[in-house]
Amino acid sequence: MSTENLLRSFGTVKGQLSVGGLPLGLLAARVGSTPFFAYDRRLITERVQLLRSVLPERLQLTYAVKANPMPAVVQHLAGLVDSLDVASAGEMLVALDTGVPAERVSFAGPGKTPAEIRRAVAAGVVLEVESATEARRVLAAGDALGVRASVAVRVNPDFAVKGSGMRMGGGPQQFGVDAEQVPALLGELAGADVDILGFHVFAGSQNLRADILAEAQRRTVDLVLQLADHLASPLRYLNLGGGFGIPYFAADEDLDLARVAENLHELVDGVIAERFPQARPVIELGRYLVGESGVYVTEVVDRKVSRGKTYLVVDGGMHHQLAASGNFGQVIRRNYPLVVGSRADEAPAETVSVVGCLCTPLDLLGNDVELPPAEVGDLVVLFQAGAYGLTASPTAFLGHPAPLEVLV
Ligand SMILES: *Cc1c(COP(=O)(O)O)cnc(C)c1O
Repeated sequence: MSTENLLRSFGTVKGQLSVGGLPLGLLAARVGSTPFFAYDRRLITERVQLLRSVLPERLQLTYAVKANPMPAVVQHLAGLVDSLDVASAGEMLVALDTGVPAERVSFAGPGKTPAEIRRAVAAGVVLEVESATEARRVLAAGDALGVRASVAVRVNPDFAVKGSGMRMGGGPQQFGVDAEQVPALLGELAGADVDILGFHVFAGSQNLRADILAEAQRRTVDLVLQLADHLASPLRYLNLGGGFGIPYFAADEDLDLARVAENLHELVDGVIAERFPQARPVIELGRYLVGESGVYVTEVVDRKVSRGKTYLVVDGGMHHQLAASGNFGQVIRRNYPLVVGSRADEAPAETVSVVGCLCTPLDLLGNDVELPPAEVGDLVVLFQAGAYGLTASPTAFLGHPAPLEVLV
């Protein structure tokens, strides 16, 4: 998204960027040290409200906790969405701490160990099993604990979704059970003491193309129509995945949410309601709910000119916000939107490069960006930091202290 739009969505106060209604300088003083991450509660709430206003009423919204597992963020979202999706036992505990009922927590992800599965079965969450081995571990844990576990089978679809930043379905995958193997697995589980609720299909992440997302959703429903014939009881859970992307870069267009919603209305109020009246249809979103609500705030510690090129050296870097340095899944490095948050109303007047404090040329946060003249002590703010920021970054690299996080 453009920096102008991002500045507008956060707002400005007294010439400074505002986060959660507070001028940045005051927020920095309250936090007490830079760098830090700040997430704007209002923006998260508004994003969920926007989705609710366009999506079918029957369609439930799940938050994929891995996008931002800060407990306060998860707690805030727990009050807004219908359920939480976790991908580790650690995330499961954070989700359960919010008070969301266990049956509204689903646990996906490959390589769940017997110990993790035992914890999940004991907790009573829905296990989205990714292989026959995991399914057998669930049965064993249920037996040992005297608990009838709830299971959904994660399916690796027989189609791929183009245009995703990260493809996680179609072709060979470590994720899910290949669609053609699902009937045999269901046959094996038939009669076992386990509750098979339905299916989970997640084809990919960070997709900005509404037409491609819509096609993936249609093909997912077609696939589930076939697979549901192999279930012993009516389908009760249908996780259609998500993959809604956010515009990280100035050239990216926003996802056409209206178009995605229109397709979901057709599917959810049409074939899903008719064929699966007992099913709980779900979409699971991570970055779309939180990504644009977060900023990473750093302080300029040095300003230097090297052979005609001006550098702002900040006290943060790729060890906290790896994605902004271009080293988290990008093929071509592009600048994340950034501003001098302490001079939010000043016009750009020079071209500078913003670099982090790590002793590696990889630690580049903004290459040749137009900014107002910033001095030591000014606050440089990187946008699009609400998802896959701190917890997706190599915080131990170079041994600097960890940043704080606040939900404002
Ligand atoms: C990572 C993940 C998500 C969230 O992806 P976003 O791009 O953040 O929306 C959803 N579902 C599953 C299974 C995932 O692994």
